[in-house]
Amino acid sequence: MTAAPKSWADGIQAVHDQAAGAVRVEIIRPVDVLELLAEALNGSVEAAQHLRLANEFIDKARRPSMSKPMLCGCCPRSIRRGPFSIALAIPARPDAQNVMALGICERCGTEPAELLERVRQALSRFWPDIREIKVHPAEGRA
Ligand SMILES: [Zn+2]
Repeated sequence: MTAAPKSWADGIQAVHDQAAGAVRVEIIRPVDVLELLAEALNGSVEAAQHLRLANEFIDKARRPSMSKPMLCGCCPRSIRRGPFSIALAIPARPDAQNVMALGICERCGTEPAELLERVRQALSRFWPDIREIKVHPAEGRA
């Protein structure tokens, strides 16, 4: 599993092609990171992958050299500063190669249910023909 490649549009297209109409969404809030780390340390390959993807995304979002600040996936606010949650859109198939990551600002949501609803709306805008968005809320994570 690798982060979406090249340009934003290419990355979105790659995820969309792989998803064939179905994606699963993982939400990682700032408060979920410790639990994810514990899962990864206990041997969860999936948790380790999600942590790595989240870390890459945060690196990119915070990079001061980016000419344009990265924006929230749900509104036009910058996510360069301040806490934000990350939504990973993963093609719903076992051999998923590409993942799309969205940053969601605190103003757009902090609780799993509202974040999931926002992400669902955002993904429906990117992919109007997406037929199934399975969500995996950070349930079990405090
Ligand atoms: Zn926002």
